[in-house]
Amino acid sequence: VSAECVECDVVSGKKTPAGGIVLETPLFLVHALLAPTPLPGWVVLAPKRHARWWWELSPDELAALGPLAARVFEAQRAALDAEHGYAIALGDQLHHMHLHLVPRYKGTPAHLRGRLAFDAKPGDMASDAEAAAAAKKLALACVTEGS
Ligand SMILES: [Zn+2]
Repeated sequence: VSAECVECDVVSGKKTPAGGIVLETPLFLVHALLAPTPLPGWVVLAPKRHARWWWELSPDELAALGPLAARVFEAQRAALDAEHGYAIALGDQLHHMHLHLVPRYKGTPAHLRGRLAFDAKPGDMASDAEAAAAAKKLALACVTEGS
């Protein structure tokens, strides 16, 4: 755990996303965004231990990563009717390995598709209630998909 890491704060429970924790496994956490989201069901997948980036993940973590991402994408489709999901990893700002799993819906406007979702304006944001409802549905579906 790193003292000045927002992701470690989510793992330790010091910071709680409005949508809460969507899924916890022995190695990873999947949670809603801490900031307002333009796309309900947008989650971040990150290892529970502080790893700077993918090159610091253990063989066990690397082996779990793919199936876990697939499980979340499947849950976004099943529970939220997403027609596609983006996997986006940048790591310029947050130095704790993470992967954005961003749903794209039938009605997602062009200016929120792909990496443009990161440039969403305040007027594009879903309400906290909407974001929380989507995260809750996703959490239930993730449990189902994993069984
Ligand atoms: Zn961290």
